[in-house]
Amino acid sequence: MAYSDTVRATYQQQLQDLQDKGIFKIERYIHSVQDAEIEVEFPPGAPLKKVINVCANNYLGLSSHPDVVAAAHEGLDARGYGMSSVRFICGTQDIHKELEKRMTEFLGTEDTILFPSCMDANAGVFEAVLGEEDVMISDRLVHASLIDGIRLCKAMTDSFKHADMKHLEEKLILHSDKRHKLVITDGVYSMDGDTAPLDKMVELCEKYNAMILVDDSHSSGFIGKTGRGTHEKCGVMGKIDIITTTFGKGLGGASGGCVSGRKELVELCRQKARPYLFSNTIAPPVVAGVINVLEILSATTERRDKLESNADWWRKNLTEAGFILQPGDTPIVPVMLFNAKLSQDFARDLFAEGVYAIGFFFPVVPQGKARIRTQISAAHDMHHLEKALDAFIKVGRKYDILGKTKNEIMAMYGN
Ligand SMILES: *Cc1c(COP(=O)(O)O)cnc(C)c1O
Repeated sequence: MAYSDTVRATYQQQLQDLQDKGIFKIERYIHSVQDAEIEVEFPPGAPLKKVINVCANNYLGLSSHPDVVAAAHEGLDARGYGMSSVRFICGTQDIHKELEKRMTEFLGTEDTILFPSCMDANAGVFEAVLGEEDVMISDRLVHASLIDGIRLCKAMTDSFKHADMKHLEEKLILHSDKRHKLVITDGVYSMDGDTAPLDKMVELCEKYNAMILVDDSHSSGFIGKTGRGTHEKCGVMGKIDIITTTFGKGLGGASGGCVSGRKELVELCRQKARPYLFSNTIAPPVVAGVINVLEILSATTERRDKLESNADWWRKNLTEAGFILQPGDTPIVPVMLFNAKLSQDFARDLFAEGVYAIGFFFPVVPQGKARIRTQISAAHDMHHLEKALDAFIKVGRKYDILGKTKNEIMAMYGN
C-alpha cells in the first residue's frame, strides 16, 4: 500500500501541528442565502443560529438579489448549465462576449477577457505578457494570487514597501535597464481596508516608463463615485494598463474574474494565458447574472451610495464607542484588538450575541495586530448595524477595552 501508515502518520502530524498552533481552520455552515442575516450551524451539529453577517465580501448586497437571481435563471434557460469546453475550442457563447464588452465599458478600458476566477486571471496574466527581459515590481502586501502569478512568470521580481512611493521610485530607477517594467498593486488592501495611491503610482510609472497592474477585487462595483474602482477614486481612469478583478465579491459574489486593460495585453492573454486556455470558463447562468449586476450598477449608484453611508456610520459609531479602528474610508473596517486570543474570544462572544465576524491574527496579519475585520454591505439596513453595534459595545465592555489606548490594551492582554 503506497499510502502506508508511516505516510499517513506524517500527514496526521502536520494537521495536528496546525491544531496545536491554533491555526487550524474550522468552517461554519450557512443554511441560508448569503445576505445581511444568515442562518449558521456552528460548531458543526449545533442548532441553527440567525446572525448578522459582517464578514462577507457581499459589499453591494447582490449575492441573493432577486433581479440577479432571476437573470441567472433566465441565463440557465436560454444558454444552459455548462459549456463542457474551454473558450477557444467550443466554449464561447454570445453572452461571454457581451460580458467582456460590458466590463470594458464599466471599467473604462480597451478590452476584457474572462477567467474562471480572479485567482486564475492573476495566475495567467504575468506569464502571458512578460518575459525574461522584464521586471515585475510589486507592493509587499499584494494578494496571495498575485504572488502566485508572479512566481509563474520568468520576468525578474522585485518589491517595494507597502504604499511607499519613495521606495517604489528607487526600484523604478534601479530597473531602468529592463525592457518592460510592471508595477503591481491591489486597489484596496483587504486586511487594512486602505486604498493604493494610484494617482502617485501612475505619475511615477509615466515618469519612468513603466506599466501598472491593479487588482481591484475589493473595489469593483463600489469604490469611486460611480463604483468603477480605485482608478475612478484616484482620478486615473484610462491610465491603468491592466486591471484584474473578481465577480466573486461586490459584483454578485458568484464566481469568475477578468483581465481588463490595453487591448494588445488582453489579446496576448487570449492567446497564451494558461488558466484561460486549459480551464473551463464561467458557467452561462453566472455570466447572465454578472451582466445583470452591471446593468443595475450602470443605471444607478444607489447601492454603492448606501454602502458608503453604511460604512461611514459604522466607522463613526464604533469610534465614538471607544474602539480603535484601522483608519480608512472603505467598507472594510478593522477593529483593532492587538492580541490574538482576545480576537478569537471577542469573535466567539459576538457570535453568541448574534453577530458573525472573524478575528484575524498572525500570520494572516502582522504579530501584535490582531483584529476583528468587519465588512459592511449595502444589504445592511440601519437596524442590522444598530444591533451589531450594540453587540460590539457589550463585548467591548466585557473585555474592558472601550476608550483604552493600544498600549493599555496590550498591557492588559499582551500581544
Ligand atoms: C478575492 C481576491 C482574489 C480572488 O478572487 P476569486 O475570483 O475568488 O479567485 C484575487 N485578488 C484579490 C485582491 C482578492 O481579494
